[in-house]
Amino acid sequence: MPSILLRHVCEHNHRERFLPYTTKYREALNSGKLRRKVEEACSILSSCRLCPRYCEVDRTKGEKGFCKVGAEPMYSSYGPHYGEESPLVGTGGSGTIFLTGCNLGCLFCQNYDISHEMNGKVTDIEEMAAIMLALEKKGCHNINFVTPTHQMPQLLSALELAARAGLNTPVVWNCSGYESPESLAVLDGVVDIYMPDFKFSIDENAYNFTGAGNFWEITQNAIKEMYRQVGELVIEDGIGKTGLLVRHLVLPRDLAGSEEVFKFIAKEITPDTYVNVLGQYRPCYKAWEYEGLERSLSSDEYSCALETAKKAGLRRLDQEVAPRRKLPLFDIKVRN
Ligand code: SF4
Repeated sequence: MPSILLRHVCEHNHRERFLPYTTKYREALNSGKLRRKVEEACSILSSCRLCPRYCEVDRTKGEKGFCKVGAEPMYSSYGPHYGEESPLVGTGGSGTIFLTGCNLGCLFCQNYDISHEMNGKVTDIEEMAAIMLALEKKGCHNINFVTPTHQMPQLLSALELAARAGLNTPVVWNCSGYESPESLAVLDGVVDIYMPDFKFSIDENAYNFTGAGNFWEITQNAIKEMYRQVGELVIEDGIGKTGLLVRHLVLPRDLAGSEEVFKFIAKEITPDTYVNVLGQYRPCYKAWEYEGLERSLSSDEYSCALETAKKAGLRRLDQEVAPRRKLPLFDIKVRN
C-alpha cells in the first residue's frame, strides 16, 4: 500500500496545474503551518487532552485513556460511501475512513463493534496516508475521517505525508462535537469541512448515555468555534468544498432534547447552517439498559422533529435541499 505514495508524487506535478481548488491543509503545507500543527498535535499525546475527557495519560508510552487507542493510528474500514449527505457523495462517493475507538462512546452506538469493541487494525502513518491517496485516486470527493478526534495527531501526521505526495481532496472532520478547545485550535486552517453530530441538549441524558460531563456547554462552544473557522457550507457543482454541516440524531421520547439543539443552531450559528436531521435511531449495544432507548424512533417522532427544526428557523435542512438517493451504503469495505 505505501508504494502508492511514490506514484502520487510522480503524477502530482502534472495534475496540480489543472486543479482549480486548493484545500486548507495544502495551503497550510505550502506556508509551513502544517508542520507546526503536526508537532503541536503530537505534543498533546504525552498528557492527552485531545478531547474534553482530559484523561492526561501518556499515550506515547503506551498508556490508554477512555478511547482505548494508543499512539498509533487504528482504523476499521475505508472506502467510497454513498450513504452520506448528498454534497459529500456526488458521483464518486465520500472517501470514508472509519477510525477505531471513540472519545464519546454512546451506549446506543450503531457502530459499537468499532467504537466500543475495538474491532480494527493498528497501522502506521504511511499506510494511513496511502489510504487517503487511494480514496482520492478512486474519485472520492473528500477524505471523510469518521470519529477522528481521539486520533487527531496520527491523522494530521498522515495528512501531511499524503499532502506532500499530492493529496488535494477536501478533508471532512466527521466528529461527535464533544471537542476540546486545544484540538480545535490545532485543526484551525487544516480542516475543510466540519461535520459534528450535535447529539444532546440535556446534560443529564448526555451523561447517562455517554458518561461525558458538561456536554451542552462544551458542544455549543465547539460548534461555534468550527463555524468561526470554516463558515457556512459552500457547495460547488453539487459538492461540498468547505464549511460546517451539523447532524442531529433524533432519539425516542425526545431524549436528545432536539428543540434546544435546533434553536441554538438557528440563533447562535446561523439559520443557513446545513443541518441533517437523522431519523435512523434503533436500539443497539446497551440501549436496552435505559427506558426510552429500547425501541426505534417512530415516524411521528421524526416528522415532529423536522417540523421543530423548521419552526426554530432552520432553512437549509438536508431533507429538503438534497433528498437522499437510494444507493447502497458501501462500494467497498475493508475490515481487518
Ligand atoms: S482522546 Fe482519548 S485519551 Fe485523550 S482525553 Fe480523549 S478519551 Fe482521553
